[in-house]
Amino acid sequence: MRAFTTAEILSIGTEITVGETRDTNAGDLARALSERGVVVVRITGLPDDQPAVRDAFVAALARADLVVATGGLGPTPDDLTRESLAAAVGERPSVEPDVNAWLEALFARRGLAFPEANRKQAWSIPSATIVPNEHGTASGWWVDRPDGRVVVVLPGPPREMRPMWAGWVEPRLLERGLGRPITAVTLRTTGLGESVIADRLGHFLDRDANPLVATYARSDGVDIRISATASDGRTPGALVAEAEAAVLALVGDAVWARGSTTWPEAILAELERRDQQLAVVEIGLRGALLGLVGEGLGQRLAFAESLQARPAPHDGHRADLETLAGRVRELGDCEVGLAVEVVPRGGDLAVTVAISTPESDHREHRLVFLDGSLGRSRAAIAASAILLARLRAGSAAG
Ligand code: AMP
Ligand code: MG
Repeated sequence: MRAFTTAEILSIGTEITVGETRDTNAGDLARALSERGVVVVRITGLPDDQPAVRDAFVAALARADLVVATGGLGPTPDDLTRESLAAAVGERPSVEPDVNAWLEALFARRGLAFPEANRKQAWSIPSATIVPNEHGTASGWWVDRPDGRVVVVLPGPPREMRPMWAGWVEPRLLERGLGRPITAVTLRTTGLGESVIADRLGHFLDRDANPLVATYARSDGVDIRISATASDGRTPGALVAEAEAAVLALVGDAVWARGSTTWPEAILAELERRDQQLAVVEIGLRGALLGLVGEGLGQRLAFAESLQARPAPHDGHRADLETLAGRVRELGDCEVGLAVEVVPRGGDLAVTVAISTPESDHREHRLVFLDGSLGRSRAAIAASAILLARLRAGSAAG
């Protein structure tokens, strides 16, 4: 029996090619398949155009073990995925009595006349097995090809597609041999650009390597993903662990978390470990810092304030940032005070961070790329990184 090691994904519907609908299905399926160690070789978006969709099925079936398509299973004349797949495999659709009875009952149950337009949702072809849909009227098809390849078509609405994939399709693919065991870890970095990381990692970033190391620029930092499948008698886990140690030796100073950890999660974990609370004042950030970390800290955030500018002078001189950090710490009646200020500087933002704890005061400067809202969100990340490093250093010492 043919195992599924490669896959292609087709996203069908003119709403996608005109940009009205964002194609989340392909991303969700690609992720699910990749996590199983299936190599997704191509993702294609297609309009509701029968020859184009038929040709896409034929081409995908020539390249991949598994083809998964979503969309175009509605009752209206523009939904042509069934016709297109039938043409691609040279079969003729006909009404499948069981599906027909189920569909008619759905309408009868609500006292509605059966709309003839929906009849084609009862279609099948000889090589298809019906994939039941518990959340809508569009059943899917699982189509077996003589050479062991499989085409699966599922409806477009994600609320219908996802449970059909996870509850029906994926278990059957697994029975036949889906992908291969894969282990992956993600290292989250901050403070280094993607090109600097790439320079440091050098040959580790070779494509087609196993373990595979890749960088992904995210809005809150650069992620390094290390993944491996078994080879030379070594398990994926062992290969990933070895590569992770080597990667950490090169860029470990920039790594602040593993997996899908977020900034507020990392900071919250540190505050909980120390059993402390945080008070924050941001100046000129227009909510960027509080938006990034405020919500996620829950009860560990004792006080938060967003100011447009440094407070007016008290007894002659302007309060410096350390003093403000100390003051919010008092206002929050807590252990850690954080004051962050940004000032535009030549198209970028100068960031000053002050952290006040009972043991010490700390002050640090950064210059982040761009001003405006992009710069402010980078400044918020820089401040979070400084705070996190300080909390960690403190807990290591204490
Ligand atoms: P259809 O199966 O073509 O009738 O799809 C109906 C609806 O499903 C569309 O109007 C979209 O709202 C949604 N949809 C279709 N394809 C996708 C996709 N690739 N990603 C996310 N939503 C989709
Ligand atoms: Mg459609």
